[in-house]
Amino acid sequence: MPKCRKCGRQIAFIPGSHGSYIPVEPRPIWYRPNVRSTITVLNADGAYIRADDVAASAEGALKGWMPHWPKCEDAVAFRKVRAAAKAERKAKEEAARFEAMQPKQTTMFGGKQ
Ligand SMILES: [Zn+2]
Repeated sequence: MPKCRKCGRQIAFIPGSHGSYIPVEPRPIWYRPNVRSTITVLNADGAYIRADDVAASAEGALKGWMPHWPKCEDAVAFRKVRAAAKAERKAKEEAARFEAMQPKQTTMFGGKQ
């Protein structure tokens, strides 16, 4: 199974309605068209439509695909947050190590400054 070059997660490709391949989440989903929905799915023809995510057993449920991009951006953003937290932790460790290396002397020339 191909992996996304951006976030490294497994993805699938489905033929889009414009002849190009669209990266999607590997597992198909079930949806019911709803123009007022905030969720965008790809239908069996590879066209983007607004729909509700429903159970396979739901009345009128159609098989479709979740585009990968919304999840990808979340994954990349999440990784950035984690990387930033890691960098901050490392900086603090470095600072602590640097402090530990300093001689335990509170004044520079033994007198009060
Ligand atoms: Zn991705």
